[in-house]
Amino acid sequence: MEHLVSKEEVRHSVADARREHKSVALVPTMGALHAGHLSLVSAACQRADYVIVSVFVNPTQFGPGEDYESYPRDLQHDMELLGAEGANAVLAPSAAEMYAPGASVTVDPGPLGSLWEGATRPTHFAGVCTVVSKLFAVVQPDLAFFGEKDYQQLQIVKRLARDLDFPVRVVGCPIVREPDGLALSSRNVYLSPAERTAATVLYRALRTAETLALDGERDARVLAEAVHGTIAEEPLATLDYADVVDALSLEPARTLGGAPARAIVAARVGRTRLIDNLALATGGEETA
Ligand code: AMP
Repeated sequence: MEHLVSKEEVRHSVADARREHKSVALVPTMGALHAGHLSLVSAACQRADYVIVSVFVNPTQFGPGEDYESYPRDLQHDMELLGAEGANAVLAPSAAEMYAPGASVTVDPGPLGSLWEGATRPTHFAGVCTVVSKLFAVVQPDLAFFGEKDYQQLQIVKRLARDLDFPVRVVGCPIVREPDGLALSSRNVYLSPAERTAATVLYRALRTAETLALDGERDARVLAEAVHGTIAEEPLATLDYADVVDALSLEPARTLGGAPARAIVAARVGRTRLIDNLALATGGEETA
C-alpha cells in the first residue's frame, strides 16, 4: 500500500491508475479506524480498482472547545488495518499540506448545514464540505464512500457533489454496530466503563421508535417523544436532539407513510457527544 502525504503525490498516483484504466474510489476518514471505517473500505474495494483512503483530522470541521487536539490518532495502526483490507493507498497529509497559508475560501453546505448537527456545531458542515471538495478535486474519484452513521453529512455530501458538479457517485454504507447496538465511533474510546454501558441508550431509544412504527404508529411526534422518553431514563445521558425526520430533507416528519423517514438522535454521555440514527419502516424507499 502506498503512503502518500502530499496532494502532488496523490495526483501522480491516481494518474498512474488512470493510465491503467482503473476506476478510482475515495474513502475519507479522520483515522482511529474501526470496523465501521473498514466496511467502507471493503465496499470500495469491491466496486473500484484503485482505492485511496484519506486519514486526516480536519481542523476546519471542529469548533472552538471541541476535541480537535485530543482526537485519537494512530496512523501506524490505521495503515496496518488498511493494508489488510486491501486499500491501494493512504493519504495522510499535514494540516499545512491540506490548507495552504492564507487559504480562505470555504464551501457553504446550504440550508441542510444549519439543521441538527449544524445547530449545535455551526461551522462543522462548512469544514466538512470544504475538505471533501478539496479531496474530490485532488483525487477526482469515480466513487466516494461515506457512512450512514453520519447521516446528515451523507445527505449534505450527496448534494455537494450534485450541486457543484463533481463527477463522483457518493455511496452511502450501513452503520456498523457493537453487539449491544452502540454504533462504532472513534469517540467511543472516550467513554468510561459506566458511560460505555449507558451509551447503548441511543440505539435503544431509536429502536423504541422503530418498534412503535412497526406496530403501526404513524404519528411522527409520538415516535419522537418515545425516543426522548427513553433517553431521559438514562441518568448519564443528556439529550441534544432527537426527532423523526424526512430522510431526504431532514425536516421533522409529521406522519409516516410513503416518504422515507429516519429517527435521529444526539446526546452527551458524560462529556462525550454521540450521534446515531435509524431508518423507519414507512413503506417508502430512500433513493437519493
Ligand atoms: P470519521 O473518521 O468519523 O470522519 O468517519 C469516516 C467515515 O466513516 C464517515 O463516512 C463515517 O460516516 C463513517 N463511519 C464512521 N463510523 C461508522 C460506523 N459505525 N458504521 C459505518 N460507517 C461509519
